[in-house]
Amino acid sequence: MAKVPADGAVRGGRTARAAGARAAPRDRAAERAVCCYLCGRRFDVPARAMSTSCPGCHRAIRIEDVVVRTYVPTQEMQTCGSIVVERKGRVAARRITAGVALRCDGTIDGAVECTGPVVLGAHAAWKGQSLRSPALRIDDGATLIGHVCVQGGSPPGDADASGDVPDAAP
Ligand SMILES: [Zn+2]
Repeated sequence: MAKVPADGAVRGGRTARAAGARAAPRDRAAERAVCCYLCGRRFDVPARAMSTSCPGCHRAIRIEDVVVRTYVPTQEMQTCGSIVVERKGRVAARRITAGVALRCDGTIDGAVECTGPVVLGAHAAWKGQSLRSPALRIDDGATLIGHVCVQGGSPPGDADASGDVPDAAP
């Protein structure tokens, strides 16, 4: 119920940028929406945060972008951000989950689940049980071994594309 100042500066407008508001610690513009990979809850986090506790399931989740440059054997690689596997990078995991996007120019061994687009570069090699993504780009030369499931159409919350999602009534 904040009163709008006389000059009509509304949140989401030019306030942050015009004032050069670098010092503002709680700048709304510095937040981004994430979706918990454990329970599906959507919420906002500070743009630079690397991990957080989900308000839905109260578990610690990773929200940073992950860049793989070497061989990374792990149980599960999960983040609400993006995963990038570089040319010499290799991930071996039971499950690889990315919230924003996944790009691979190296090697991935394991099931991939991404709620954003997946790009397999020309040197990419993927082998796993399944690869699920709403959009998939495969460059000439990439190797895929496994079951690929690309579910097009609009996902349940297609307000995503417009960016700022207002808090819905629970
Ligand atoms: Zn959760």
